[in-house]
Amino acid sequence: MIQKLYPGGKQKAFNVTYDDGVLQDIRFVELLNKYNLKGTFNLNSGLLENEFEWTHQSGRVVKRLSKEKAVSLYEGHEIACHTLTHPYMDDLSESEILHELQKDKANLEKLFKREIKGFAVPFDYYSELIESCVKQSGFSYARISEESHSFIPQTDYYKWKATVFHTDSEPENLTQQFLETNENLDVFQIAGHSYDLDIENLWDRVENVFVQISSQKNIVPLTTIEIVEYLQAMEKAEITEKYIKNNSNISLWFSVCGKAYEIMPMQRLFF
Ligand SMILES: [Zn+2]
Repeated sequence: MIQKLYPGGKQKAFNVTYDDGVLQDIRFVELLNKYNLKGTFNLNSGLLENEFEWTHQSGRVVKRLSKEKAVSLYEGHEIACHTLTHPYMDDLSESEILHELQKDKANLEKLFKREIKGFAVPFDYYSELIESCVKQSGFSYARISEESHSFIPQTDYYKWKATVFHTDSEPENLTQQFLETNENLDVFQIAGHSYDLDIENLWDRVENVFVQISSQKNIVPLTTIEIVEYLQAMEKAEITEKYIKNNSNISLWFSVCGKAYEIMPMQRLFF
């Protein structure tokens, strides 16, 4: 009788989370905007400074965006930390990890003039020490470099897994499965680097996924932090036989006997 919904009374959510802040993000963000989708962009503020570039193993030179371009490009999307200089974190001491996190957060907050709440791990090393530093530094979640291959919402916000990396051969299959799933609060999240779309010639495949997702009325595009904060608010909701109480400071959506209701912050819905 009672079902949990996403904002706008939508059943499912979609997000992309992309790392490194590179030139190919210009084309990628244009695609997101064309289909009214939302991205989370994980940036290394220390490498935006001089448009740092490096040679990918494919031989292509990959270049970072300038600060000015980044500020205008990512308007309407989430900015998250990805450390100051993209180090191998297994080599770092606690104080060095804290510096990489906190300096990046402070730089990005100053540059983008907003609070930065998310963190995505560089490379694929994650540990209890890094998790503890992420929490100490005031982040709300840490996206790690593992795939869930699942649409069930993540429950450990400091070991958050995207559904799939775009270089995986499964995005199209998973998209099809996601369109067919009927579970409330399911989430489909694709992770990657936009330079891979050039290197592996994946632009058409990604656009196809966007076309299919955006054509569905029961899917809402959200950033990672919007999903995390919504799920946390849902956890606090009080559901009884007579009412639902929203104990958070954001609106929550429920379906009661097939009808969608928005419950305002700290309000009750009686039925
Ligand atoms: Zn990275």
